[in-house]
Amino acid sequence: MSDKRTEISDLGEFGLIEHLTKPFTLHHSSSLLGVGDDAAVIDIGGDDALVVSTDLLTEGIHFNLMYMPLKHLGYKSVAVNVSDICAMNATPTQITVSISVSNRFPLEALEELYEGIRLACDQYKVDLVGGDTSSSYSGLSISITAIGTVKKDKITYRSGAKEYDLLVVTGDLGAAYMGLQVLEREKEVFRANPNVQPELDGHDYIIERQLKPEARKDIIGFLAELDVLPTSMIDISDGLASEVLHLCKSSNVGCHVYDEKLPVDAKTAMTAIDFNLDPNTCALNGGEDYELLFTIKQEDFDKIKGNPHMTVIGHITNAQDGIYYIDKNGSAITLRAQGWKHFEGE
Ligand code: ADP
Ligand code: MG
Repeated sequence: MSDKRTEISDLGEFGLIEHLTKPFTLHHSSSLLGVGDDAAVIDIGGDDALVVSTDLLTEGIHFNLMYMPLKHLGYKSVAVNVSDICAMNATPTQITVSISVSNRFPLEALEELYEGIRLACDQYKVDLVGGDTSSSYSGLSISITAIGTVKKDKITYRSGAKEYDLLVVTGDLGAAYMGLQVLEREKEVFRANPNVQPELDGHDYIIERQLKPEARKDIIGFLAELDVLPTSMIDISDGLASEVLHLCKSSNVGCHVYDEKLPVDAKTAMTAIDFNLDPNTCALNGGEDYELLFTIKQEDFDKIKGNPHMTVIGHITNAQDGIYYIDKNGSAITLRAQGWKHFEGE
């Protein structure tokens, strides 16, 4: 290491990952895909491939224990990993769980955390097969690695979108972000006066979307039943805009995303308006939806038409055409990501 000092914030999260991993070459032909997608893909011989993904959740960055019950945190830690496995069109099978924990946490707290992890293992039918445990000076961190399997000819990479494909999103967007806004507001009220009860009534849906998100494992089943193989897929962790940009850059394509098509639940929209926010801006940039974003060939449109779980929000163009958001007035605006930034500079 030289005396030179470069701030990580100068690179941003994705720049940092690219900078650190670029010097690596793959030694094994079984490493079908390394860094750069929702999960790595490993050839295990035969028709199947293994997919592997890791996520790290850190107290104070990814969760706040003032309003995040540990049981929910355990559940969410598994769900966000399962979501990355689903984004490869794979079926999750195993997880490992590693924790570092300070002496602020008694056994009972960790029991609660693991109760949530167990519930998620039952929900997604994944087996806890290992992990690691360490003490820490400050707070709690949870790192989960999820493994899944998929037929090699059914893997959906971020890189497969083609011009004229349709861009599809599952479920609805922006709810988890609005749930977080409500929880943050009530936390401030509680700080000012601990005797005031939090006002969470009527916000159940959006709060649940924040505290207990579900991975869309069901969609993998629906797509198989409908006989639709997406040409590309990614899960929405950082916000729709950010994921559209990832998908288009990986696939070297452009796209048009239509404001009027974005699926936003009525409760999300009402809460956004209460907060003086544009509901569609929350849908675009909110993040933590853990819905799936994928592209399909136009000829598959009839198979998903009217499906309550899937909404066509745009279409793929060629790279030179650029990546655009078509607003309510029909004006094309260059799409930018303003999602969660753990490191500045993006
Ligand atoms: P996701 O949001 O789907 O979890 P990330 O943006 O965290 O994906 O990661 C993008 C890619 O970079 C993935 O392939 C991931 O495995 C890889 N990656 C992230 N952090 C590191 C790291 N510290 N070292 C090596 N690879 C990393
Ligand atoms: Mg992902």
